[in-house]
Amino acid sequence: MSAVSRFAPSPTGFLHIGGARTALFSYLVAKRLGGKFLLRIEDTDRERSTQEAVDAIFEGMAWLGLKSDFAPVYQTQRFDRYKEVIAQMLSDGTAYYCYATREELDAMRAEQQARKEKPRYDGRWRPEIGKILPTPPEGVPPVVRFRNPVEGEVVLDDLIKGPISFANIELDDLIIARADGVPTYNFCVVVDDLDMGITHVIRGDDHVNNTPRQINILLALGAQLPKYAHVSMILGADGAKLSKRHGALGVMEYRAMGFMPEALLNYLVRLGWSHGDQELFTRDEMQALFDLSKVSSSPARFDMEKAYWVNHQYLKIADPAVVAVEFEWHLRRMGVDPANGPALVDVILSQRERCRTLLEMAEKSHFLYAELSGYNDKDAAKHFNDEGLRVLAGLYQALKALPEWTVPALHEAVNHFAESQGLGLGKVAQPIRVAVVGMAVSPPIDQTLSLLGRDRTLARLDAAVAWARSRAPG
Ligand code: GLU
Repeated sequence: MSAVSRFAPSPTGFLHIGGARTALFSYLVAKRLGGKFLLRIEDTDRERSTQEAVDAIFEGMAWLGLKSDFAPVYQTQRFDRYKEVIAQMLSDGTAYYCYATREELDAMRAEQQARKEKPRYDGRWRPEIGKILPTPPEGVPPVVRFRNPVEGEVVLDDLIKGPISFANIELDDLIIARADGVPTYNFCVVVDDLDMGITHVIRGDDHVNNTPRQINILLALGAQLPKYAHVSMILGADGAKLSKRHGALGVMEYRAMGFMPEALLNYLVRLGWSHGDQELFTRDEMQALFDLSKVSSSPARFDMEKAYWVNHQYLKIADPAVVAVEFEWHLRRMGVDPANGPALVDVILSQRERCRTLLEMAEKSHFLYAELSGYNDKDAAKHFNDEGLRVLAGLYQALKALPEWTVPALHEAVNHFAESQGLGLGKVAQPIRVAVVGMAVSPPIDQTLSLLGRDRTLARLDAAVAWARSRAPG
């Protein structure tokens, strides 16, 4: 039987970082086994589910490249199938109608609490051999309950947490269809996992208590059980529950912050999993090496600094053509048309050492694609002095005469000019930077000028001199 895993978000919000990690783990398990991965939208809670959240989940999954191998499944489109299974269970006796009213159930609970017992359904409508059931009351629409075994225990051999057992006597006869006929959450999950041939259920450990109930229903349906893995939660760096302040953001917010999707995946895969002391993994390596048995059962801590570090490492080694796709997205978002400047790949190669994020790279490369909006006050005051202006005017002439506009030729020309003036390189490079970038920070000056191109460089040197002279006192 080939492996099938799934990610089954409830569409009540964005795809956040914890969900993305669960999705990634699930995806990797299937891929490592040469199996399939599917996305299921658990939208039965109609009050809380929204189309916007569904779209946001698709958007996040697509950006991360976690592709579903099948068309996504929506639980709300499967009600007929759930009802069919309920009918079958009613007829084979693994489920039964319960006519207990709300008042009766409240009274039952009150009595149990008074006796210091754990509140539970007392089985009054549960059929037993030789038991005479009450007559169904008029006008009371029944719920359908699952006839949970009362003896023995459910042993769950969790792939992350190890064996966990639950006594059947602790599990109530779960309501699988409400009085209005609507099937309930745990039941839908079971029918879906069964119909979709899910072999690996990987989900957050907030679902661990649902698992024995789901297992019992699967067994009642004669199903083969999937393997289960419950992933522990993610905490903030300080050990507190993960909040926005710690980085509990939607995946697309990480895009806006300038993360590469591969880098975010790389950061997430290491949240709770390790392979020796390796920190960086290509997608193929993740797929080949990821192993649930090496996932820690204790909560992982989210470390924003490390996420930035991984992103920077990734930017430094990734194929610049791949990075260019994201880089272009950031430039466009800033209203910059990448056609108005140098090839993105060349800019990435010049900028990536000093930029941890693509947002930073786009901000620092804006000057290559758009006119300057002004000069940094401090930098202009410092570098557009008499000496600086002489440098700009002199260099304008030297560069204008340059036969070719390449990094080596520019390097040579700037050095030569500095020597001829008896100036250190900094004294020459800094005024140029302020003139062409708007501030005194940029990649090495030869690269900066090469990327900017001859016409823009000369025009900006000229404009800077004119600007500075027009403001000079007297
Ligand atoms: N819909 C559940 C959630 O979003 C996941 C349930 C499951 O994976 O079985 O937490």
